Amino acid sequence: MDIHKKLELLSSAARYDAACASSGSQRTGPGVGAAHPSGICHSWSADGRCISLLKVLQSNHCRFDCAYCTNRASNNHPRASFTPEELADLTLAFYRRNYIEGLFLSSAVSDCADNTMERMLHTLCLLRRKHRFHGYIHLKVIPGASPELMQQAAALADRMSANIELPTRASLNALAPDKEEGAILRALQPVMPDRRLARRDGPLNPAGMSTQMLIGASPEPDLTVLQRAETLYRDQSLKRVYYSAYIPVNKDARLPAHRSSPPLEREHRLYQADWLLRFYRFEVSELLDPATPDLDLTLDPKAAWALRHLEHFPLDVNRAAREELLRIPGIGLRSVQRILTSRRQQTLHAEDLHRLGVVMKRARYFLHDRGRYLGNVPLQEDHLRSALSGAKQARQLDLPFAAPTETSRMALTGEF
Ligand code: SF4
Repeated sequence: MDIHKKLELLSSAARYDAACASSGSQRTGPGVGAAHPSGICHSWSADGRCISLLKVLQSNHCRFDCAYCTNRASNNHPRASFTPEELADLTLAFYRRNYIEGLFLSSAVSDCADNTMERMLHTLCLLRRKHRFHGYIHLKVIPGASPELMQQAAALADRMSANIELPTRASLNALAPDKEEGAILRALQPVMPDRRLARRDGPLNPAGMSTQMLIGASPEPDLTVLQRAETLYRDQSLKRVYYSAYIPVNKDARLPAHRSSPPLEREHRLYQADWLLRFYRFEVSELLDPATPDLDLTLDPKAAWALRHLEHFPLDVNRAAREELLRIPGIGLRSVQRILTSRRQQTLHAEDLHRLGVVMKRARYFLHDRGRYLGNVPLQEDHLRSALSGAKQARQLDLPFAAPTETSRMALTGEF
């Protein structure tokens, strides 16, 4: 099979992997490429463009038969594999033509875990050691691979990930019976330096470990999904959990009935809730409970929390503690910092807040200025709900490439 056909097959087979964001890595010294410049430190540019990585499988030959996966063994699809030399040459050629800024390398499990990992590591060794490639590399590791191979992977890749796949062990057993949850969790553990092994490639896995969870292929509510993510952040020190809306590619009685579109709005709300967990000090138990196990699709989770806790509002920005400010819809992390800095020098009024980055059309309902409530509707849940979740906002969710809107800005920056 010629290289172009392989590329077509193996890049197409990799497209369902959401965990391709990059951040936080800087390699130095003589060589080709760099992960730090050209916006590579962030997964999305200001206009929503994903940074360009060659996202490809080393092979789509798989001996496993996961119900939801296009590459599963029981599918009668064309199969191909890159040799390490082919893939290293292809990556460099694309990089030199400025088509890509790095590589996202994954693989189906064509053989035992160690053999599959060794082929991927051979590709990385060629890039890093023979061609002195310093561009960004994200490696999807194979659960079950030996600790020595994980050490090598961590020395060569900027970021590593292993897919947790599904929110619970029961769903993993039902939909991906060849996979073992314990092996996945071990693969997600931070790789610690092994003094017995010579180190030639700088820090281990500098951008950290991430994972991906499939949403909508199994029946768990958002509460279970977010509890799993919270546990992973706490126990595995993960950098990111990615949520991937289930896209039906196989007919299988274990999967939900065919739906016309993937649950993208649910995925979007999960990312927002995840942001609240990581940066706004929320806990899952504050966002959801068994009586309300799913996120509100019409309202972002921070606004939904505020509407359930109107007893905390309205607040005075001049007196509220940092933790209180962070809970006001429309005031993000950077705005909070600016408010804290500015109010040391002056008393802030409503007209100052927009300049500090506060989205007043959301925040006004939760603030007062010298005792004057800034909202134009009563501080009651039903009034605030309709003020905060208009039909216009719901439509904007369907238009991710339209001109930047408040909703798309929130999706990109995570500032609520
Ligand atoms: S192991 Fe499962 S998810 Fe991974 S490529 Fe094979 S069938 Fe697909």
